[in-house]
Amino acid sequence: GDVLLEIEDLHTHFHMDDGVVHAVDGVDLRMRKGETLAIVGESGCGKSVMARSILHLVDPPGRIEGGKVTLHRPDGPVELVGAHKRLLRQVRWKDIAMVFQEPMASLSLVHTIGSQIIEAVRLHENVGKAEARKRAIEMLDRVGIPMPQRRVDAYPFELSGGMRQRAMIAMALSCRPSLLIADEPTTALDVTTQAQILELLRDLQDELGMAIMLITHDLGVAAQVADTMAVMYLGRVVEYGSAEQVLSQPRHPYAQALLRSMPRLGQARQRRLAAIRGSVPPPYARPEGCSFHPRCDHAVEGRCDVVTPRLTEVGGREVACLLYQDEPEPQRGGAPDDT
Ligand code: SF4
Ligand code: MG
Repeated sequence: GDVLLEIEDLHTHFHMDDGVVHAVDGVDLRMRKGETLAIVGESGCGKSVMARSILHLVDPPGRIEGGKVTLHRPDGPVELVGAHKRLLRQVRWKDIAMVFQEPMASLSLVHTIGSQIIEAVRLHENVGKAEARKRAIEMLDRVGIPMPQRRVDAYPFELSGGMRQRAMIAMALSCRPSLLIADEPTTALDVTTQAQILELLRDLQDELGMAIMLITHDLGVAAQVADTMAVMYLGRVVEYGSAEQVLSQPRHPYAQALLRSMPRLGQARQRRLAAIRGSVPPPYARPEGCSFHPRCDHAVEGRCDVVTPRLTEVGGREVACLLYQDEPEPQRGGAPDDT
């Protein structure tokens, strides 16, 4: 009974002049109340589009083509794919809030921080202006903005990047959502501010009991905060399980290569994906079968380029790779080593 969000076979396509890009191509994911799920993968793997699809925040020519996104609210489940705008307006902020890499994407330039938080609160809760303003000041204080009584009347451009990010988090959390979707929330920040924001998110999560879906290309960031982790490649989840398992013993060849290529916590971030040969194919040219096969050291000709793997349980996590499919145990010598 503590399931919060279920995503089933979600598809989001972009209808371009040159063809259709399957940005999200059949994603299945679940989240429990209060957990942190990290979605990791290279840029262009569909993780942002997937997250934005949950709240219908995909701009044309992007379109949700199918699937289900079920949000379990205290008063019962609601289906978000195909939902009416009215329901989505209710859900956004109150149940699910979203913060982005660039705070200016969700903060208005022409209104003070305070007035934006007050508006969000009053849209969803029956509270007076004075009460909402008090809440705004409390939230600004809570996210570590100094002199909140003064900053509440500041405009976004009057704040530093780190302070703007905090203000956006304050706004996102002002209605106490059960899920915060954070898309690369610390990527634009310096390392110190980044660590502070992550710690802040963790503290607020404990305090408010909310779940966090963290979209990041940075495995170091994911390792710091995630309970569960999903690795995406070309619009699909290729490995999904506890963060500890996936980080320490990835099973999917792409997840293994991604982990090898990623800097460990505290290391300089330079060796990006050096270990994965080839590059992500252009969006119109999705390879047949397993879409990772042109880059995979374990690809079997006549199989991996023909059969599309599905997520299958492997040692307590789920992996979409033919090496693990249709066989009760991965075969000795056939499966990539899991060290
Ligand atoms: Fe590699 Fe084949 Fe597994 Fe795809 S299905 S990851 S190509 S071994
Ligand atoms: Mg992105």
